[in-house]
Formats: sequence, C-alpha cells, structure tokens
Amino acid sequence: MKDKEEFSWIEIACPCCGSIGNYEVLFHDKNRRELIPIETNCVKCKNCTMVYLTPIPEPDSFNKYYKEIYLKFMREGEEVEKETSKSIIYKALEWFLGFQLRIFLLIKGSWIKKEFVKKEKLKFLDIGCSNAMKIKWLADLKYCIHGIDVNPSGIEEAIKNIPDGDFRIGLLHEGNFEDSFFDIVHMDNVFEHIHDPANLLSEINRILRKDGKLILIIPSLSTIQRLWGKYYTVQWIPFHVALYTRKTIRLLLESNNFRIRKIYNQSIAWWAILSYRQWSYRNSNKYIDCKKTSTTLIAEIFLNPFFFLLEILGNADYLVVIADKKTPEYQ
Ligand SMILES: [Zn+2]
Repeated sequence: MKDKEEFSWIEIACPCCGSIGNYEVLFHDKNRRELIPIETNCVKCKNCTMVYLTPIPEPDSFNKYYKEIYLKFMREGEEVEKETSKSIIYKALEWFLGFQLRIFLLIKGSWIKKEFVKKEKLKFLDIGCSNAMKIKWLADLKYCIHGIDVNPSGIEEAIKNIPDGDFRIGLLHEGNFEDSFFDIVHMDNVFEHIHDPANLLSEINRILRKDGKLILIIPSLSTIQRLWGKYYTVQWIPFHVALYTRKTIRLLLESNNFRIRKIYNQSIAWWAILSYRQWSYRNSNKYIDCKKTSTTLIAEIFLNPFFFLLEILGNADYLVVIADKKTPEYQ
C-alpha cells in the first residue's frame, strides 16, 4: 500500500466550466471503500454548480495503483459471485430480482433497445472497455467493435472475448484513431473518473463522424440519494473526480461541440443499501464490502418498486446521455 505522501497532488480546474479555485468545500473526506490512506475535498463550483474533487493525486503518480485497485475490485467481485451463488435461497431471490427488473423494463421500455436497434456494421468505440464483457452483445448485432483501455490485462481478456474486435492499450489520444471514423463513441462508468473532460471531448469530436453519436453512462447527483452526502455510494474518493447533474453535463457537452439529444434516468435501489452501509460504518475502519447477501437481496426487492416510481418522477442515480457531434448547421 502506497502512502499518500508518495503521490504528487494537483489542484484541478472545474471540469465543467474551467474556473480555477472558485468553489465552496462541501466536505472533506477519506476513501471509504478500499481504505486507501487518501483524503481530499469534495467541492462545488460557484460559477456553474459542478461538484468535483480537488486536490487529486496527479494521474501519472497514481495510474499504476489505479490499475491494481481496479483489478483487485473486479477479481473480488467474481469470487464473491461464485461463492454466494451456491445457496438455493440466494439463487431463488436472484431469480425473483431479475424477474422484477424485467417487468419494470417492460413497463418503461429499455433505452438500450431504443438506441441500439440498427443491425448494421456501425463503427463503435468503447473508451475504458476493460475486458469488453459489457459490450460483447453488440458484436452479435454485427457492430464493428473497437475498444481502448489503460489496463493491459483487461485488453488481453477483451481480445479473447471479442476476437474480431480491435483493442488498443492506452489513453484515448494514444489510440491514434482516424479523423471522423466512428459512428458511436461509448463510455460506461468512465467519464466521472476524468479530471479534464474538455480535452477528452475534443478528441472524441475529432474521431466521430459527422452526426456521430456519443453515449455517456455516468453516476449522477440529480437524485434523492444525494441526501446521503459523503456516504452516497457514488462519492468515491479519489476515483470519482467529477460528479454531474443534468445541468452540468448539459453545460459541459454543449460548450464542447456536442448537442444533447436525450437524457435517460436510471434509479438504483441497490445504491441506497450500499450508502446505508457506508453510513453505518462511518466510525469504523472496516472495509466496506459491496457483496450481495440474501438479506440485501430481500431489501433490494422491497426497495425496487419505490425507486422505480422515483425514476418515473425524474430521479436519476445514473444519467444515460445521448449526444450528437455538433455540425455547422447547428451552430
Ligand atoms: Zn464550474
């Protein structure tokens, strides 16, 4: 475990409007999930209301550690799943949970069905693709899959999972993709880790074709769960550098040559259970496990209808943002 003094720290500008030092501190807090000895401020920009962390460990000094934590996190998740899925009660509850969620999907309609209907050879890039399991089904829709990730072992698995795909190691600007190449650029649970999103958006703009589509799936502060404050699941120091609301993601994309076409809400009951756990462990130095048990599955099944109703009323624990590359006729 690295000591926090080993990192170099940087003050960052507001990820949304670029203001420097123009913020109020919402809270000072520590890493609660992995017990990394790191503390920082969660602040709110006085100019645009963007919520972000500053200072943060300078990315180059932190990147190696970042990969280690992520791998550990993924492996542990897989282990836990193997272990818990043995119990019959757990299996039955999980089946019921899946059934319940399918009913909700039938009622509200799936954003995925609405956005990914075309069965043609669309050129699709996933930034931060990891092992590409989340996008494997798009390869079956005949999409041409491209992925990029800083983590070499993730890319190694991605190549096995989608043998026809093109996978590259590195940050987006190290991928050397052609101008106006992609039909769709997709980032799932990645954008909130970026401290300089304007820079990334300008590179995405370069590689998207005219009228190309950007899909961002980001944890959101446009939610009642914001009341948990620093115990809210998505407050993840130092990994979630920038947490968006509907207003701030719109502002950021529109000032970086994108036009928002649609924002879908997703409301996650499970996060309330994790937030409660973070709150109940607030005075202890215990590791907060994110595993599901039979008890938490029952709690989730009871909470789901309430969160489904909240989602219909506009509550968004996740925002799914669909944006088009702005072309001259829009400007
Ligand atoms: Zn700002």
